[in-house]
Amino acid sequence: MVSQDYIVEIASKLVKINSENPPGREFDIASFVADELVKLGMKTVIDRFEDSRANVIGIWGEEYQSPSIMLNTHLDTVPAGDRGKWSFPPFSGEVREGKICGRGAVDAKGILASFLGALRELADRSWPIRGRIVLAAVADEEVEGKGTKKIIASNLRTDYAIVGEPTSLFVCIAHKGRLVIEVDFHGRSVHASTPSNGVNAIYYASQFIEKIQKIKFKEQHSFLGSPTCTPTLIRGGIKDNIVPDNCSVTLDFRILPSMKPNRVLRTLEKIIREDIPRKHFQVRVVNYIPPAETPTENLLVRIARESIREVTGKRVMVKGFQATCDMSFLVNHARIPTIILGPGRIEDAHVVDEAVEVQELVKAADIYVKILEKTLK
Ligand SMILES: [Zn+2]
Repeated sequence: MVSQDYIVEIASKLVKINSENPPGREFDIASFVADELVKLGMKTVIDRFEDSRANVIGIWGEEYQSPSIMLNTHLDTVPAGDRGKWSFPPFSGEVREGKICGRGAVDAKGILASFLGALRELADRSWPIRGRIVLAAVADEEVEGKGTKKIIASNLRTDYAIVGEPTSLFVCIAHKGRLVIEVDFHGRSVHASTPSNGVNAIYYASQFIEKIQKIKFKEQHSFLGSPTCTPTLIRGGIKDNIVPDNCSVTLDFRILPSMKPNRVLRTLEKIIREDIPRKHFQVRVVNYIPPAETPTENLLVRIARESIREVTGKRVMVKGFQATCDMSFLVNHARIPTIILGPGRIEDAHVVDEAVEVQELVKAADIYVKILEKTLK
């Protein structure tokens, strides 16, 4: 049995160490995790970068030993925001009614505590490790994923990876990609008293937005459903008495693994050209995080489902994960078959009064122990 006391103690201590991102100062929390990994007998490295950013990595087993698996989760949290709105101090890490409370309790400090609880259980059992286990607690998942990108750039590779994100203990094998596109509309400025002499770029933008609202995608994914697209930013004009010659609209697309960003871009251009001359607009990609998918028949997916059934007594379906996460880089950049699996509900992440059930963290640790045993046997 994993130690509930240990998991509670670690989760609570992790919440107490503020690692809000922005600004993203993970060095203190990385140092705390490093001490725990050393106690577990892991070869431990803190990779400090940009002054106060840091990843921490713990390894059991030798390089190139196979099979190998990475437990990956993040050290940073989204900011706590207005502390007056919280019913407890966001960095207290207190336990209330069987829940760990505070910013990051769900996303993802509770999960990191479950990972550590699982590793400690294996260490206590003096389990003979055949293969290699890598624990990667990374920086910057909530902003750009610099931490996991750095790990991949350092050539750290494993046969499998589990990304610790709140999935309510479902196995998630895919997530959508995030494609951010900006469309600039150009018109001609004139005095606002004679608007018919000019070309108002805001009208172009409004025509376009109406079309976007009605957009229907043909594509469908069995775990991820439909792609989505929504305008998230609009900027136009410089003064209240000038017909604006510029208006830009930013769109957030969530695309499926079958969709290519270039095709989306071309389709969008085609849609705009139906009403607006080509010289009056420009389309460009501002940010792109590719979608990711691991085949259902992958060994890790099978083992994870089996382990969940053994611990919870429930048969679980595989699912898609709503948001993008570091799985994207592990799958697309490092070609590591990856699942997302963790305690806590995604709806309870990034909210005021964030809290996670201790029982769920313990269950997760039991599941991780089984997955590690089965994968590395
Ligand atoms: Zn997260």
